[in-house]
Amino acid sequence: MYERNNNSLEQLNFKALIEESKTDRIEDRLNVLNAFLATPGHVSLEEMHNILKEKGYDYDLQFVSQCLTDMVDLGFAQKKQFEGQPIKYEHLHLGLHHDHFICTRCGKIVEFSNEEIERLQAKVASDYGFYMLQHRMDIYGICSACMKQRQPLIPLAMAKSGEKLKIQRIIGGKMACGRLFGLGLRPGDSIEIINNSGMGRIIIGHKDTRLAISRRMAMKIIVSIDTNQNT
Ligand SMILES: [Zn+2]
Ligand SMILES: [Zn+2]
Ligand SMILES: [Zn+2]
Repeated sequence: MYERNNNSLEQLNFKALIEESKTDRIEDRLNVLNAFLATPGHVSLEEMHNILKEKGYDYDLQFVSQCLTDMVDLGFAQKKQFEGQPIKYEHLHLGLHHDHFICTRCGKIVEFSNEEIERLQAKVASDYGFYMLQHRMDIYGICSACMKQRQPLIPLAMAKSGEKLKIQRIIGGKMACGRLFGLGLRPGDSIEIINNSGMGRIIIGHKDTRLAISRRMAMKIIVSIDTNQNT
């Protein structure tokens, strides 16, 4: 998260721009902007609505939504959509750029910036004859806090999309084992979760094939994080 450089300057700038297009509720619009500027990180519409409520501003959701849209349009906020999360808004600071790590377990978003990566991206683009204007880099993974808490062994049903795992054992009777062996799954095999939406079947990648596993079945497959595959 970057420290806001100069809120009062941003306010004046916003006021000047909004007065050109809006005639009503200018004070209210500035209150929303101020609350937004005072909130670091990434907030959803609902979170922003609650933050305003806590500050004593009981605006309806529609109005807050409209204000956020104006901030995006006028270049004060950025709209971000991270997988598995509601749309989030964050400050747009002129001349500053950052990228994101997103934890697929707890949803935590960590900002980072790395000059070497930025330089390299521009170079790769230019090697392809492409003049880069903008990009986004969202790295999905497991944050250090979640990694510490993580059980070494979990049922496949609890694994998240994108995780690379190793099958440790299959619990349940001969039927279950037989069916999984029939699909070609064996303890010791490396698999990847292609899609686990939390409902319905889980799609996994196993060798060169995609397999659909029922949730009931996926509770019987005990897996661990495959550190060889992940690094
Ligand atoms: Zn970047
Ligand atoms: Zn986490
Ligand atoms: Zn950010």
